[in-house]
Amino acid sequence: MAMAVKELYPEAKLAIGPSIDDGFYYDFDLKKTLTEEDLTEIASKMSELISKNIHFERIELSKDEAIKLMEKNGEKFKVEILHEISDKTVSLYKNGDFIDLCRGPHVGSTGEIKAFKLLSVAGAYWKGNEEYPMLQRIYGTAFFSDEELTTHITRLEEAIKRDHRKLGRELDLFNIYNDEAGAGFVYYHPKGTALRFAIEDFLRKEHIKRGYQQVITPNLAKINLWKQSGHAENYAENMYFLEKDKEQLVVKPMNCPGHILIYKNKLRSYRDLPIRFFELGTVYRYERSGVLHGLLRVRGFTQDDAHIFCTPAQLTEEINKVFQFASDMMKTFGFEFECDLSTRPEKYIGSEENWEMATSALKNALDSRGQKYEIDEGAGVFYGPKIDIKLKDAIGRLWQGPTIQVDFNLPERFDLHYIGEDGAKHRPVMIHRVVLGSMERFIGALIEHYAGSFPVWLAPIQVMIIPISDRHLDTARELGEKLIEESIRTEIDSRREKINLKIRDAQIQKIPYMAIIGDKEIESGTVSIRSCKKGDMGKIKVDAFLDSLRLEIKNRVYYNDNKGRDS
Ligand code: ZN
Repeated sequence: MAMAVKELYPEAKLAIGPSIDDGFYYDFDLKKTLTEEDLTEIASKMSELISKNIHFERIELSKDEAIKLMEKNGEKFKVEILHEISDKTVSLYKNGDFIDLCRGPHVGSTGEIKAFKLLSVAGAYWKGNEEYPMLQRIYGTAFFSDEELTTHITRLEEAIKRDHRKLGRELDLFNIYNDEAGAGFVYYHPKGTALRFAIEDFLRKEHIKRGYQQVITPNLAKINLWKQSGHAENYAENMYFLEKDKEQLVVKPMNCPGHILIYKNKLRSYRDLPIRFFELGTVYRYERSGVLHGLLRVRGFTQDDAHIFCTPAQLTEEINKVFQFASDMMKTFGFEFECDLSTRPEKYIGSEENWEMATSALKNALDSRGQKYEIDEGAGVFYGPKIDIKLKDAIGRLWQGPTIQVDFNLPERFDLHYIGEDGAKHRPVMIHRVVLGSMERFIGALIEHYAGSFPVWLAPIQVMIIPISDRHLDTARELGEKLIEESIRTEIDSRREKINLKIRDAQIQKIPYMAIIGDKEIESGTVSIRSCKKGDMGKIKVDAFLDSLRLEIKNRVYYNDNKGRDS
């Protein structure tokens, strides 16, 4: 693609062009703003280069030689990249007159590229930094066959239909008021709030069932607390600071120090452990505006956060329990998952020995369950290594979900202890964990996973009551009251509109059930039920409908469009 761009626009400057999960992109500095038509032209130039089957030749040069070559070619971004890397020799690939820096490996010749598509063009800052020039990024993808390419394109189209930002607007779930209130802060509308509470109610019960105690900690704390925890030193670029009465305060970016204070408030005995504090804790973390994305990357979010304080001997079992908890949750919401083990990052606190212990505890837990995982070097948090669980949604995409972190460091920094069986003071270990992750990100993932068509237990409106005309309104209201008494979320469509329009609107809103009331229904003491998933279900006695609804909610039945019925 870069070769084609250079042939069409010789003045184009090459920046970076990596492969990514679903294909590749390349950033170009180009005066002309590229359009869809330009992409078509670039693509046909690419086809021409492919048909010539041009050989790729690998060349190795010393860094200085490469810098000279790129200076001669006028590739200022390449020169900048070369100055920043520490390698003494670098590899380049040459095909025809085109030459580019590339670590390789590489296909042997252009003819090996069987199926490709240029997908889009977007603006991207050099090095992702708003202070640098804006470049043009062309996204594309390539496969070994047309068939694979078509499958992939269909999946991309499906992903666009499921985009949570689009569905969030259409279903009136949430909004982010960039101009009025700032980027990265989410406002839940009534329907989004109903969805979130359905998840949270369930979550609280599950935590209590599993021996967690709920706590609530404030959003602000003195900076001293964050100095002691190491956040002020290692996490400052993500933190919001404010000052009042000459006192420096921090808006909490994490819930850990708060839970530690509650642990420390009392003398703890080995008999009290493990202690598990749970909080739906709202935290604020600064993110550059360029990376903000709908509900997935925000600046304020709520974690289903817990901290477990236990003895070293209890560690493996506690990790296992958390893992089981997370895996039960994934099953309830209908996600499959994959695991990563993230190890020590560049910036860290504590001794190497502690890191070693913590990492092997996580490894042991994964191995003992026979759980497959990949190692993500250097992706741990500054105070400890972690297991990352990635949700796999209905169309096979991965989402960041639960994490389990083992931490020997914060207990040391806060001088935590418990009295052991021997009557002496011992240091507890801490587990930081979330089972859904950020509520915002999880809800974003859920919207896309279900394509906005939520299972009944989660649906913001579970039943839309539709009276056929005004004379059926009283019966509709009676049914509405009955449903509300059962805590079933319901609305009455009392508009003077045609029944077909009311049905269509409820379908567009993806409401699981419509209960239609007309003369015949009133006469027979029934309601006509239409299900979003199962279509027209005919006339059903009100009590029978309620029974089946209760059961469906209680069992948290979900339908996965790609896999048929499941529960
Ligand atoms: Zn924590």
